[in-house]
Parts: sequence; structure tokens; C-alpha cells
Amino acid sequence: MIQPVRSLRRSATTMATAALNFVYPPACLFCGRDVESARPGFCETCLATLKPAISNECPRCGAPVGPYTDVTKGCAQCRRESYAFDLVIRLGIYDGEMRLACLRAKATSGSGIARALADVLVDQKIVELRDAKFDFVIPVPEHWSRRLLHPYYAAETVSRQIAQRLEIRWSRSILCKTRRTPKQATSPTPQRRQQQQGSFAVGNHKHVTGKTILLVDDILTTGSTATAAAQSLKKAGAKRVVVAVIAVSPLKQ
Ligand SMILES: [Zn+2]
Ligand SMILES: [Zn+2]
Repeated sequence: MIQPVRSLRRSATTMATAALNFVYPPACLFCGRDVESARPGFCETCLATLKPAISNECPRCGAPVGPYTDVTKGCAQCRRESYAFDLVIRLGIYDGEMRLACLRAKATSGSGIARALADVLVDQKIVELRDAKFDFVIPVPEHWSRRLLHPYYAAETVSRQIAQRLEIRWSRSILCKTRRTPKQATSPTPQRRQQQQGSFAVGNHKHVTGKTILLVDDILTTGSTATAAAQSLKKAGAKRVVVAVIAVSPLKQ
């Protein structure tokens, strides 16, 4: 698009948003209190509970670790795990208020909160996300039969928002889920691995070969799903696969 046209369109959008905010003052997407920000999101109080307190985390699995823990080969929770992805970038731990926020983001009407959580993740991890120089952003895909019943899918909304904020190409067609797998919340890890293995496929290897990919899901539990998805991408020639999630489950710690 020609630059002046783009900036005119941006100014028009800003003015329209300001007018709308005047008529309907924006409210926190989590507690409903009025907020000052022009961008839909959270109030200061909710933001403080959703943003992690300053803590160290394992770059391999996202688990919180002590300040002096050597994480060059992962932490105590993940050292014996084999993941196909290279790194995990996460906002928080799937517990307390963050768990409630993630559950609301998953609900049919959760796209606003899913986008706002993605914004907080980008704001918190902007350095890591920019430094990785991703070629594109993709969601961990769902099987088409699930999409038929539930067209809204939180991982897709989160991934699209991250791609928009980073101005990186987004695609949901590069990786697909070829087989439906059972809901896994209660399955033990080895069973999850087995269920997910070989359930993803890359359509055209040309899109993936030599690329650095940001693979996005809303929650990372055992890493089985992300590993199976990353395995497909690596088999198709991906150079590096980084997983970004809103929260990592404390179950895996
Ligand atoms: Zn709030
Ligand atoms: Zn770890």
C-alpha cells in the first residue's frame, strides 16, 4: 500500500477509536472496571496479577526456576524430556487469575481477552520475540472436524494477534492436523506423546525449509502436542521452531 494512504487510514482508525471510547469508555476485559488505555485490555490491577512477577524461567520449557539455576540444558523438570521445539516463550503460569483468564479466552466469546493476553505477552517478551527473527507465525492447528463444531479457536486468535503486533506473516494453512486426537487433560505424558505422534503434517515443504517459525498455542501442558507439531515442521526442513504460549501448566513442573 502507498505510504500516505496507509497513514491516512491509520489516522482515520485512531479518530474512530477515540470517538467510540468517548461514547463507550473502555472497560477492563477481566474485571469490567474503566480503563484509560485506548487499546482494549486490562486495568492496572488485573495487569499486575496477570503479568509475572520478576522471575527466572527455563528457556526450554518455561517453568519458573531459581535465580542461580543453570538452565543451559534445561531445568530439573525438563532435562529428561525430549522436545522437538527449541525454546518456549510464555507469559505466565496456568494457575490462579491466569488460569481464569485463559479459560475465558478459550470460551466462545473469548476473542477479546485472547487478543489482550497476546498483547501482554508481546509487551513482556518483545526482546526475545524480535531477536528470534521469525519468518512466520502459525497456530498449533486443530482438526477440521473440531473447527466445524467450534469455529472460534483461542490459539488461532492469540497467534494472529502476535503476528500483527510483530508485523510477521501469519498462516494457518502451512501446518494441519491430519488426525483427531482425544482431549488430553487427564492422560499421562507417555500416552499423550503416543496420541499426538504423527498427527500433524506440513502441506508444502517449500514454505518451511530453512525457516524460523513461531508456533503458538494458548497453554503448554506436557509439551506433547507442541512437540508433535514441531516434529512435523522440523521434518519438513524448518531450521528452528520456537513455541509461544500464554501460560505453562504447573502440572509439568
Ligand atoms: Zn481489571
Ligand atoms: Zn525446563
